[in-house]
Amino acid sequence: MKAKDCFELAAEQARKATCKRARCGSVIITDDTHEVIGVGHNGPPLGDESQRTCEAEWDLGIKPKYDKTCCIHAEWRAIFDVLKTNADKISRATLWFMRVDENGEWTDAGEPFCTVCSRLALESGLANFALWVDGKPKIYTTADYNKASYAYYKKA
Ligand SMILES: [Zn+2]
Ligand SMILES: [Zn+2]
Repeated sequence: MKAKDCFELAAEQARKATCKRARCGSVIITDDTHEVIGVGHNGPPLGDESQRTCEAEWDLGIKPKYDKTCCIHAEWRAIFDVLKTNADKISRATLWFMRVDENGEWTDAGEPFCTVCSRLALESGLANFALWVDGKPKIYTTADYNKASYAYYKKA
């Protein structure tokens, strides 16, 4: 399976996102057998509209960039999905992430910054985390991804 095909599967998930602030998708695919073992998109917890907080206004003065206080991240969903049914395969799998724009087109991921996703990925035992950066795949080990996410906030 080519990297671009993996990112397109993540983009398909992102187009299903119901969060009003970000359209993100994730798929987790085994590195050896290329099996899709987990999927997720951004949305309220369990899709419960009564828990939707996208449109509320928050005092974000002390909040970091990753937490706009709304929705379940696509990455969390994909990781939970794997842990429910294919937990034994997560240590030889890669999470492919994509955020799409309002037209459903791929966007550049830039630097990692979500330290919740990065810690959860590490704790789950997931092997790798793949972002689309500068028109090509950038694949991190989850250990490096976590360090990169924290480095984003480290004061110079
Ligand atoms: Zn939201
Ligand atoms: Zn996140």
